[in-house]
Amino acid sequence: MIYLDNAATTKTHEDVVKEMLPYFTENYGNASSVYDLGSKSKLAITKSRETIAAALNAKPEEIYFTAGGSESDNWALKATAEAYKNKGKHIITSKIEHHAILHTCEYLEREGYEITYLDVDERGLVDVEELKQAIRPDTILISVMFANNEIGTIEPIEEIGSIAKEYGILFHTDAVQAFGQIPINVEKMHIDMLSASGHKLNGPKGIGFLYIRKGVKIGSFIHGGAQERKRRAGTENVPGIVGLGKAVEIAVATMEERTKKESELRDYLIERVLKEVPYSRLNGPRKDRLPNNVSFCFQFIEGESLLIMLDMKGICASSGSACTSGSLDPSHVLLAIGLPHEIAHGSLRLTLGADTTKEDMDTTIEAIKEIVQKLRDMSPLYEDFKKKSAVSE
Ligand SMILES: *Cc1c(COP(=O)(O)O)cnc(C)c1O
Repeated sequence: MIYLDNAATTKTHEDVVKEMLPYFTENYGNASSVYDLGSKSKLAITKSRETIAAALNAKPEEIYFTAGGSESDNWALKATAEAYKNKGKHIITSKIEHHAILHTCEYLEREGYEITYLDVDERGLVDVEELKQAIRPDTILISVMFANNEIGTIEPIEEIGSIAKEYGILFHTDAVQAFGQIPINVEKMHIDMLSASGHKLNGPKGIGFLYIRKGVKIGSFIHGGAQERKRRAGTENVPGIVGLGKAVEIAVATMEERTKKESELRDYLIERVLKEVPYSRLNGPRKDRLPNNVSFCFQFIEGESLLIMLDMKGICASSGSACTSGSLDPSHVLLAIGLPHEIAHGSLRLTLGADTTKEDMDTTIEAIKEIVQKLRDMSPLYEDFKKKSAVSE
């Protein structure tokens, strides 16, 4: 099997699993208990929080554990909206956010908030001038993702952060794809809130965190006990928190070498496919993209058919959109970068991981070439196209 869907989820690192296991068996104490067994859990949580804070140049007390990226995004948006509604009810985001942001924004619209969805250019980049123009006296929050999960675009986060700071507006970023792949410094980048998730960086599923800058007055997301400084109640997912901490430790220690290797394989894959498969295009920027992200569109074929045939060859990939949910709508991200529906339907996302090899790339490239040709040979669209181009010649 060749696994090229690391943007959807990753394999939990062996050392992460090893680190977690004792917290299911020997060290199962509740971190709120007074006896020694409980303090072992408490200590482990503290250690994980410190590791994560250090990775972001944040303070440990600014890290709040959650059940993942979606929860962190929901918390950041809903709680800011609630806490700052007397200042205003306007939020700025982008058209290419993850659904955890977009669907939360739709919910807030129904609650009487007004949302500006910024356009992106053909590479998927937000225009900071357009952002500035969208700011109003009643704007309470800017939420722009650090890097896009479908096409790999890295947004100008530091510039956006500076603007938010200049105008005194809170800035949240969904860094689920970026954290562990790109160095992040919340101070330098003026980030007030940041979402991340364990299972996107070789950690466990169902654990994540929200960084909340000290002084940001947002309320609790889950009411109950005093866990997470009373802002996110519920007995801590200790094994998950331990696993997340270990995953972050590994991600930071290996980042430079891993992302260098991944981006070389990424570029090799991009170059060969664009050269060897006619009527193909790369989505997202050529250079400033996530080190592990490749997104193509192939004309005259359906991305879904391509995925199924890749799966038959043992290659796990994605169309990069929510198509898997049975919806026939093409990806909102591909439409936002200006692709027509018929092209957006032929999308393929390949996201590399730490274990991806050159051999994997070669096998995948050959498979894509063969399958795309096969699908085109069956496609009436391609038939029409060939006839038309024969006539014009
Ligand atoms: C995966 C993902 C999420 C959701 O994270 P979960 O931990 O799966 O809830 C949010 N935003 C982006 C950009 C993602 O890629």
